[in-house]
Amino acid sequence: MKKVTLGEWGRKLPVGFVEKDKFNREFAFRDLDLGVEREIQKARSKEKLRTNGEVTYLVLAKLLTSLGGVKLDPDKPTETQALLSKCWLADVLYLWAWLRYEACGGDVTIPYPCPNPRCGHIEEPPAHFDLCGFDVHVPESVAELTGMWKLKSPYEIRSQTIGSFKLQPPTWSVYMAADEAEGDFTAKLLLSSICGTDKHDSILLTDQEVNKLKRPDYMGLNGEIDKLVFGPKLVVDHQCTKCNTKGSMFLDWGYDSFFS
Ligand SMILES: [Zn+2]
Repeated sequence: MKKVTLGEWGRKLPVGFVEKDKFNREFAFRDLDLGVEREIQKARSKEKLRTNGEVTYLVLAKLLTSLGGVKLDPDKPTETQALLSKCWLADVLYLWAWLRYEACGGDVTIPYPCPNPRCGHIEEPPAHFDLCGFDVHVPESVAELTGMWKLKSPYEIRSQTIGSFKLQPPTWSVYMAADEAEGDFTAKLLLSSICGTDKHDSILLTDQEVNKLKRPDYMGLNGEIDKLVFGPKLVVDHQCTKCNTKGSMFLDWGYDSFFS
């Protein structure tokens, strides 16, 4: 794995579509103009989209004209969404960040509350960050997309005792499946990353099956999955100008704040 910045990496996916031993990292957008923006607003209110994931899905589907060598028609967003749901989380987040860069430039202004609760200072004017300087983790070989976790407490799944799980990077489906309000993102991350076992070449676990994991195993699995999380790190580091406390915060990548 290597670490680059978004500005250095440019217009290509951090992971991409795997073709034999190579990555196809190509993508293209049409321009985000007022016409498209109005289509997006109309669709958002009609479909009553709530979560960041749902809105991201819709916006990308309205704009992508090709992805990983597949030609896409922005007038058929359902087909693009079907393709996106199988993409790596890393790639979709990167598409989102790159779209923001192309549409509005790299300068991100965000209200940044001081991490020290006794200070509570909020920068005025808000803090500035350059999207081009954000770290992006990129795999250098297809082999880096596979991980393994040996269970400390083996358990039975579909009448077989499972000793280990095979792991892959999380896919975008985690954001579509997780109810952000309920905070079940971590469980969905496990469901999306566990792709096989020592008894199954490929498997999709159910909620009930993943719920049987004991604490040391799911903590360990989370650590292994962390190593498979590529793409942009949308985290900003900042130092409070009033009390000098240093902190970091996830960038709010919701459409309304991220594209303002
Ligand atoms: Zn402070």
